[in-house]
Amino acid sequence: MAVAAGADDGANISRWEGASPRPETSPPMASTVTKLDSVRNPSREVRHDWTLAEARALYDLPFTELLFRAQQVHRANFDPNKVQMSRLLSIKTGGCAEDCGYCSQSAHHASGLKASKLMEVQRVIEEARKAKAAGATRYCMGAAWRSPKARDMDAVVAMVEGVKALGMETCMTLGMLSDDDVVRLRDAGLDYYNHNVDTSEAYYSKVITTRTYADRLDTLARVRDAGMKVCSGGIVGMGEGADDRVDMLVTLANLDEHPESVPINMLIAIPGTPLANVEKIDPIDFVRTIAVARIMMPKSFVRLSAGRTEMSDETQALCFFAGANSIFVGVTLLTAENPGEDKDAVLFAKLGLEALELPASEDHLQEAGHARACSAGHRDVGQS
Ligand code: SF4
Repeated sequence: MAVAAGADDGANISRWEGASPRPETSPPMASTVTKLDSVRNPSREVRHDWTLAEARALYDLPFTELLFRAQQVHRANFDPNKVQMSRLLSIKTGGCAEDCGYCSQSAHHASGLKASKLMEVQRVIEEARKAKAAGATRYCMGAAWRSPKARDMDAVVAMVEGVKALGMETCMTLGMLSDDDVVRLRDAGLDYYNHNVDTSEAYYSKVITTRTYADRLDTLARVRDAGMKVCSGGIVGMGEGADDRVDMLVTLANLDEHPESVPINMLIAIPGTPLANVEKIDPIDFVRTIAVARIMMPKSFVRLSAGRTEMSDETQALCFFAGANSIFVGVTLLTAENPGEDKDAVLFAKLGLEALELPASEDHLQEAGHARACSAGHRDVGQS
């Protein structure tokens, strides 16, 4: 049920009042030698049995050691100078019944965002055509829903079919899905479904109360079982601690199959949301999170997602060195700002990076040696 804008603000704000990052449980440089010994060199190894201690030991490595290992893993699995480009469009904005603490689109928060209806199919296809012309290979469509309604599914299916017909990969983020929804999306040819776990299970209830961590994992399992690729990651800088970041990555890496796409977002603190005043994450900790994701999920595309407008070129360069190999292009990410193609072109030229092209016939993930070639997150950047 939709709740009037701002109606629940008091309750939500109390969850983060005076929020500052949760204390780190151990200093980043502690017991380095022991930890180095305890972490296997994982360059080519795809594992699903990561422990929290192993992941935390990686996170705590001296920064240059961590980045060196992450770059080794990256080079073993990908061209280190190619970056996959996705474009994201909000096909239905605002008025969402969920209370995700970071999101301007929640009807629980007084962000001032104006809600809109589902976009017309032809307009979505036209926007996708422009994105393709600008170099995007994947088109991601996000709707601010708890879950799609049956009456909306015909239009959503037509969007997938229309964007696929342009020769682009498709991704959708629509919230929780029923069995019927996943079958319809799969049969329409949807390539990826985005549904982020957001954070650790332990920290999750501090951010979202209207649905559970188990709900998230159920949707991911349903998408996977139906045969679609999974895009799932999280948001850092929400006041969580390093253990929460690591725990989130362990959850993702220990799924039966790694998500093909792992978006790591840096919180964009939006006025009117409960997380508006949360203390910013240190960029070095953000880069550490990217590096650990790269090492633990060696064949996944790790996407440097929301928050790039607030990052220096140097921070973004470190993220690419740490193994990020996917970004969103375009001036907006659903409702948030993004650097835009011109700025990205300058940055890519400076760093010698190039856009990854889609292979003509084969799925590029297969070409990249993806563990899951062809098997059976309503959200990036604050979309579920
Ligand atoms: S992140 Fe998604 S589910 Fe959560 S409030 Fe925003 S639009 Fe709704």
